[in-house]
Amino acid sequence: MAEFCSQCSPFDNEYDIDIFKIALKLKNGHSKNILCEGCNIRAVYKDEEGLIYLGKLENKEIKLYSVKLEELIK
Ligand SMILES: [Zn+2]
Repeated sequence: MAEFCSQCSPFDNEYDIDIFKIALKLKNGHSKNILCEGCNIRAVYKDEEGLIYLGKLENKEIKLYSVKLEELIK
């Protein structure tokens, strides 16, 4: 079965990778790699100040996009 994250799951409240939870638990300065089969999100990163970024795969490169924790709540 394919694994979907909370940002792209086609099913209501059903997903294998909870990006909000991952972002919440991450310590500052740490990142976690994820492998979602539904979208191009490949990592969640929290910087030293607690700002959260999603690492998206674009043209074979990971690009960081700043997001707010509230935006990740599904
Ligand atoms: Zn996804």
